[in-house]
Amino acid sequence: DRQQHIRNFSIVAHIDHGKSTLADRILEATDTIAKRDMQAQVLDDMALERERGITIKLNAVELHYQAKNGETYIFHLIDTPGHVDFSYEVSRSLAACEGALLLVDAAQGVEAQTLANVYLALDDDLEIVPIINKVDLPSAQPDVVKEEIEEMIGLDASNAILASAKTGLGVPEILERIVSDVPAPTGDLDAPLKALIFDSVYDSYRGVVLAVRIVDGQVRVGDTIELMSNGKRFEVTEVGVMSPKAVKRDFLMVGDVGYLTASIKTIQDTHVGDTVTLADRPTATALDGFRKITPMVYSGLFPVDNAKFNDLREALEKLQLNDAALEFVPETSTALGFGFRCGFLGLLHMDVVQERLEREFNLDLIMTAPSVDYQVVRTDGEVVTVDNPAELPEPSEIKEIREPYVKASIMVPNDYVGPVMEIAQRKRGEFVTMEYLDKYRVNVIYNLPLAEIIYDFFDDLKSSTKGYASLDYDITGYRASDLVKMDILLNGDPVDALSTIVHQDFAYDRGRAIVAQLKQTIPRQQFEIPIQAAIGTKIIARSTVKAYRKNVLAKCYGGDITRKRKLLEKQKAGKKRMKAVGSVEVPQEAFMSILKMN
Ligand code: GDP
Ligand code: MG
Repeated sequence: DRQQHIRNFSIVAHIDHGKSTLADRILEATDTIAKRDMQAQVLDDMALERERGITIKLNAVELHYQAKNGETYIFHLIDTPGHVDFSYEVSRSLAACEGALLLVDAAQGVEAQTLANVYLALDDDLEIVPIINKVDLPSAQPDVVKEEIEEMIGLDASNAILASAKTGLGVPEILERIVSDVPAPTGDLDAPLKALIFDSVYDSYRGVVLAVRIVDGQVRVGDTIELMSNGKRFEVTEVGVMSPKAVKRDFLMVGDVGYLTASIKTIQDTHVGDTVTLADRPTATALDGFRKITPMVYSGLFPVDNAKFNDLREALEKLQLNDAALEFVPETSTALGFGFRCGFLGLLHMDVVQERLEREFNLDLIMTAPSVDYQVVRTDGEVVTVDNPAELPEPSEIKEIREPYVKASIMVPNDYVGPVMEIAQRKRGEFVTMEYLDKYRVNVIYNLPLAEIIYDFFDDLKSSTKGYASLDYDITGYRASDLVKMDILLNGDPVDALSTIVHQDFAYDRGRAIVAQLKQTIPRQQFEIPIQAAIGTKIIARSTVKAYRKNVLAKCYGGDITRKRKLLEKQKAGKKRMKAVGSVEVPQEAFMSILKMN
């Protein structure tokens, strides 16, 4: 029957090992996409994904595969991101699957996110099909990689498929192995509907579109569904699958991975991990859902135009539907007005959120420097969490500041251990141990402050190891550190949105660097602008932006109105991302100065 012919699987790997390219070959081989419509990494359909060449969103598609045994199978393939900032997308994808194709680059071998992602799949008891990809490369070492898979992951790699997602080598075998190795979904067609929401997106016409995995039963257009976390009821208006464009169906049944709409207009009603059932025949128990994810970094998001505050709120709510890792709460800044304090999984995630808000919701935003969350022990004994430097209590009220620490594993070829340790040491790292992974590589473990990791650690690591190092980290807890708040004053006034929390030992250097960076980014204005960095009342660095005297319009000779208008427009465009902070016009880049201090 149908259920026995369904195979649900994800492709997991370290970033750039070829997941999206393999998905392309599978779509081609199953004639899901006509050759003429094919483009590279076709499932990376977001403009941002295409521009950056990375997968940001999970993407579930249905395809039909005629196997060598003559039978036709229904595949639901979920392509997933590889970057650590999007691992929540991976874990949610895996919850909809029975199997995972594990891709390992034949030239790079097992890397940090290979391990992180395969462990997620093993946690979910998925059947793993190991594939060694890119065997077409001259530098491919499939035998070494096989060994790594066995030694480092503990998987039997004797039957690993040697493949090239580029040339298509091995793809027929991969398709057959999906049929033979990935189990058909279990679940009961006759039981009441039980479906897992693993993703969602807001559509202005159809309302919330839910990505669901049907665990038991079936759902049809016209059914009244109930969301089990809040009891809200809706009538199903459409169900279907992505293939890769939306294809409507009359029903979804046990084992299916598809989408569902039910004129859900109130965004707050739906969240990923919730269970969908039928109102008049509910299932007894809800599914476990997903673990709550905690942000790693926080920053403030403010509309350039203060009148757009409500638009920003609406945009964040809609985006949150499609980005379950995003968090936000309203925030007020003296300098920037009303906005939101947002939590992200990392700097790439932060960057992607800002870009999506601007592109998909047409907003101009100012984003403030990222910060981690600190635990502040006050002199009265109370412990408060502070993720916004501007909200740090007065120094006289602080007994101790604790910062989040991570355990970082850095996988690197033997030759680069020196540079790696040098960087980790410089970032206040505490050496834990070093494990030899095989003849060629080591795993260097350090305890490091999260704040040091999120800024430029990874860039430094990459550049001093010719790109060979890969990094994974987990928060382990908080430690008291010698931290101080550094304020920035423009024209004598402190700008709350430019305050940062820094380690005492780095304060002078960072103060000087930020001041220098600000001098470069803040354009000359009608008056001189002193820039100062201060700890408490003590000024630790200063500089000045000289006054700008020339009037642009003076250049316009008599009455050439078009030229004059053009100049004014140009000036206006340049100002788009400027924010008046007191009397000073400050560009967006200035708020990110802390990130550009090397
Ligand atoms: P993902 O990050 O895992 O989704 O990786 P992509 O599918 O985006 O591929 C990353 C890069 O590797 C792209 O430039 C691909 O063209 C390239 N690539 C993928 N598979 C192969 C392969 O089998 N051989 C070679 N030579 N390049 C490949
Ligand atoms: Mg990809």
